[in-house]
Amino acid sequence: MVDFTAVVAGAGPAGLAAAALFAKEGVTTSLVAPAPAEDPRTVALMQPSIQLLRYLDIWPGSLEGVTAPLRKLRMIDDTGALLTAPSLEFDSQELNLEVFGWNIPLDQLLPVLRKRAEELGVIFIEATATNAKSEGDAIHISLSNASEISASVCIAADGANSAMRTAAGIATDSWSYDQAAIATSFSHSMGHHNVSTEYHKSAGPFTTVPLPENRSSLVWMERPARAAALIAMNDKELAAEIQIETHGELGLISNLGPRKSFPMKGLTARQFAKERVILIGEAAHVVPPIGAQGLNMSLRDAALAADLILASKDAGSGGVMADYNAARRAEVLPRQKLIDLMNKSLLLGLLPLEGARALSLSTLHYVGPLKRFVMQHGLSPMHNLPFAMRAS
Ligand SMILES: Cc1cc2nc3c(=O)[nH]c(=O)nc-3n(C[C@H](O)[C@H](O)[C@H](O)COP(=O)(O)OP(=O)(O)OC[C@H]3O[C@@H](n4cnc5c(N)ncnc54)[C@H](O)[C@@H]3O)c2cc1C
Repeated sequence: MVDFTAVVAGAGPAGLAAAALFAKEGVTTSLVAPAPAEDPRTVALMQPSIQLLRYLDIWPGSLEGVTAPLRKLRMIDDTGALLTAPSLEFDSQELNLEVFGWNIPLDQLLPVLRKRAEELGVIFIEATATNAKSEGDAIHISLSNASEISASVCIAADGANSAMRTAAGIATDSWSYDQAAIATSFSHSMGHHNVSTEYHKSAGPFTTVPLPENRSSLVWMERPARAAALIAMNDKELAAEIQIETHGELGLISNLGPRKSFPMKGLTARQFAKERVILIGEAAHVVPPIGAQGLNMSLRDAALAADLILASKDAGSGGVMADYNAARRAEVLPRQKLIDLMNKSLLLGLLPLEGARALSLSTLHYVGPLKRFVMQHGLSPMHNLPFAMRAS
């Protein structure tokens, strides 16, 4: 007899969403995590992820006032390289969508997800999961408070340094980029018209994403030394730098929000599920913040895990592990490769890579059907959606 059907380790957005989904489907669920840390990031969530929030009955709700819709996405070649690409604009109306998605501050999303998970009956345990051992039809999870709980399946949502992944004996391939990403937000005197702009610069993308009224969030990828210098600036100095990088397109920059720098890494777990442990979110895959893929993929992990667990008599069976592994690797690995290539083409400044980037962006610019294909698969992937992400 196990204590819970599912134990989720980690209360980041992936773990909270997974726990709430399981509980909504009647799966007895516990979530083990330390108290949350402050996070100034916002996340651009595309339609399938928004549908998941709707399915959990938290969208739009209280999030409505703190988010802004994303109607257009622009990519601008700002490298000054020998071979530059034409600027590319994706319009949600080309896919007959009113919007691609919404930009949500994490410090607003996390409490809403947590509250909903609690309402749905998730048992929260404030501790870290330190070890796990699969035995017969159960997995036994050791906690930092010296207790142990058992479950049919453990969902490892404990981030890039996942202890549950290590406990399951899953190796990783990881690498680092000579970059850090600064996340912050700012006000501007001119409107953003619900357009997110990714300026491709030689140290990486500089991306503005709309927030309500005349405010945007920023993900600024830079070389580590320059990122450290930017983080150390006072608000006035940093606002002036942002002004320069946006070429004045948003008018005067002011009123900066909290900021944090994230070292840029990539990671892929060699298996996404093994011995009653299912990896979701950054425990399975870490990508640089290009094209808003990270959490969108993570929520899809959570929704597929819910589908498979519900369809199986034994939530942690070998069949569940195999199906999850196959389905998620097929989607995640090509996306990771593409993001990596896009990032390296900017960073390395190698002519063949720059040429390939310029050529592929030009092709997208000029070939309508290809552009729509990329939008459907990259920005609004609607194929083979798990149940909670299908439009009602
Ligand atoms: C600058 C930046 C901007 C981004 N913007 C976007 C975007 O616009 N759109 C998008 O889709 N994605 C975006 N991402 C990616 C997205 O933020 C991540 O994919 C997402 O936050 C990962 O969530 P997670 O729940 O997997 O991991 P985390 O948020 O890292 O959560 C892991 C949790 O596990 C807990 N934990 C750790 N160890 C243990 C343990 N042993 N036991 C229990 N709990 C543990 C931690 O305390 C933490 O709360 C961005 C990333 C960056 C860096």
